[in-house]
Amino acid sequence: MARYVFITGGVVSSLGKGLASAALGALLQARGYTVRLRKLDPYLNVDPGTMSPFEHGEVFVTDDGAETDLDLGHYERFTGVSARKTDSVSSGRIYSNVLEKERRGEYLGKTIQVIPHVTNEIKDFINIGDNEVDFMLCEIGGTVGDIEGLPFFEAIRQFAQDKPRGQCIFMHLTLLPYLAASGELKTKPTQHSVKELRSIGLQPDVLVCRSEHPIPDKERAKIALFCNVRPEAVIPAYDLKSIYEAPLAYHRVGLDQAVLDAFGIAPAPKPDMTRWEDVMDRLDNAEGEVRVAIVGKYVQLEDAYKSIAEALTHGGMANRVRVKAEWIDAEIFEREDPAPHLERFNAILVPGGFGERGTEGKIRAAQYAREKGIPYLGICLGMQMAVIEAARNLAGVTDAGSEEFDHEAGQKRFTPVVYHLKEWVQGNHRVERKVSDDKGGTMRLGAYSASLKDGSKVAEVYGATEIEERHRHRYEVDVKYREPLESCGLVFSGMSPDGRLPEIVEHKGHPWFIGVQFHPELKSKPFAPHPLFAGFVKAALEQSRLV
Ligand code: GLN
Repeated sequence: MARYVFITGGVVSSLGKGLASAALGALLQARGYTVRLRKLDPYLNVDPGTMSPFEHGEVFVTDDGAETDLDLGHYERFTGVSARKTDSVSSGRIYSNVLEKERRGEYLGKTIQVIPHVTNEIKDFINIGDNEVDFMLCEIGGTVGDIEGLPFFEAIRQFAQDKPRGQCIFMHLTLLPYLAASGELKTKPTQHSVKELRSIGLQPDVLVCRSEHPIPDKERAKIALFCNVRPEAVIPAYDLKSIYEAPLAYHRVGLDQAVLDAFGIAPAPKPDMTRWEDVMDRLDNAEGEVRVAIVGKYVQLEDAYKSIAEALTHGGMANRVRVKAEWIDAEIFEREDPAPHLERFNAILVPGGFGERGTEGKIRAAQYAREKGIPYLGICLGMQMAVIEAARNLAGVTDAGSEEFDHEAGQKRFTPVVYHLKEWVQGNHRVERKVSDDKGGTMRLGAYSASLKDGSKVAEVYGATEIEERHRHRYEVDVKYREPLESCGLVFSGMSPDGRLPEIVEHKGHPWFIGVQFHPELKSKPFAPHPLFAGFVKAALEQSRLV
């Protein structure tokens, strides 16, 4: 049976609960334990798949094809444990399950209520895989006191009650605001937040207090006293220069020790922190810098491309160089020549995206990279744009485009070099889709394998010819353009195992120009940088030495 750590937040949102959870996962692993992390989100969307990246940040896709919260990306990057469908749930999903059961008559005519029906559904979810790991870390999204969060808080209270004593603990994150006028850290909001928790039957065992200033022992003792927590279990969390410092920083202030103490595990196994020391060594002792332009649409909110930003950092760590990524709005290149904007960069990345806006600019960015010999990494839509660029400018399909944009505009304007995929093979199954299907969960989602061409750049980058990567898209490069494009130098160097779906393209003779239909950024870790990002940054470094 797993031990459970429930992680909640109070006072304000965006305190770094996801990061604290991920770092705790890494610290428990460093002590030899197995872990799994879960996110329970109170919002009513069934999943984040249909939420705007502007509003909610990136959608993180799991191997088994779930569209989940971006916190699952942190969990994977810190623990290396691949997330699953059953590691992310929202109120929307819980209620929709309950209502489906009700329609099927599974409750045998009972009146359906939040307690026990909704809370039972939540508890069943938390308990999935109970015998698989030593520790299950469950983060509750939002802030204590939110109306949507109540069923989750009630469910974890019951859950801890259902399990044997000592099997579950509660960790709560709060903020200690600093009042410059009086030069004081204020503990009152933390006291109120814990009071709110206790009023619904939850007593935190560990308090993590975010603070921009050192927390004096006196304040720590006061928090302990007023919040009914042991002083050693009041853990300060200061701002860090890199998120990857979190495991070492939390270890220094005793987070993992406090958690093990709360479970009564003594003596605690000794931690092996070498993985994180190496990660920090690579970050701290990087030499030089490469500049990467990310030409995209959702440039206002950096979280919209969270995993790409992280994977670039990992690529830098692999090469012991700093990566300075700058976000450029693709639409600029629809009005202006890309050259003056792009010439100060050592590499260009065009990320994934949806809809036509900005795509002509991305096509021009791909053209610039191809013509100038600048390293280019096209991800998903970024690959599709590179193919359209080659079709238009090399293969003479001057009106090449994607059906996605015609569907959006409601009129046919392009030759569909990229088309809407309606059926494909996943493992041993055939999957079918219609244009009119719901927007949620109807894409080609999750892990699919690809076979790489022997001797291609990408096979060299991976050091393998069979790979598996995560997908999230509706449209696909039409394989019938393979021959005309290959005769112009755009090699289809990765294909689905049945040879029908182009997965990777690369320009022959170009120093480093690769487009991939999948999202390699989702699998990159600081201690295991993804080969495509390591290779891309290496190419950028070589480019920087040329100028
Ligand atoms: N909009 C494109 C598609 O659906 C690309 C999606 C993406 O970049 N993730 O195929």
